[in-house]
Amino acid sequence: MNTNCLVCDAPTNNRCSGCKSVYYCSKQHITQNWPAHKGYCKRVHEAGTQVFDAILFAANETKPRLIKIPWVFGDVEEDDYPTQWHKLDCQPWLGGKDCCQRTMYVNTLGRNDPSLGHIIGIRYDDNSFINGSPPNQCIWGVTKGQAPHPWAGNLIALRAKSMPTDLYEDAVPETDLEPVIQFFKEYPYRMH
Ligand SMILES: [Zn+2]
Ligand SMILES: [Zn+2]
Repeated sequence: MNTNCLVCDAPTNNRCSGCKSVYYCSKQHITQNWPAHKGYCKRVHEAGTQVFDAILFAANETKPRLIKIPWVFGDVEEDDYPTQWHKLDCQPWLGGKDCCQRTMYVNTLGRNDPSLGHIIGIRYDDNSFINGSPPNQCIWGVTKGQAPHPWAGNLIALRAKSMPTDLYEDAVPETDLEPVIQFFKEYPYRMH
């Protein structure tokens, strides 16, 4: 089993029938988490909600998997955001009160390789080392222990329209997983 209960981390294959994105070990833990989860869950399967496919590297899971990230167009303000931007709803994986979401960018397979022709944005929590986030086992697993940086907390990868960006697109695991894994093997010896 590769997925864990959102409440207690026990390995489980039972996923939420609403959003099909989070897993629970028991009815009890579904019920316990529902007040926190229902906002996200309803948005994902509500008619008219727009979602991006993203690849989740969950701290407490052993393999990356595809999740849905609901989004809306953000407010357009004169200075910061003169144009349209995507406001991503990364709950329940990123975005708790102590979380500071940032994005890193990958546009080549390895640091000396030619451009992929598209950009992958990796969303992470910049506070993960001070807010008690657990070490990321998934990255440890996919890099076979070769990641020089001790990643903590959850990370989410999806396509970005530019670097830097506030516009995103669906991740395509078949082509996007490998460059992200390569990035984890090279970071921090590779900067954009
Ligand atoms: Zn549980
Ligand atoms: Zn759900």
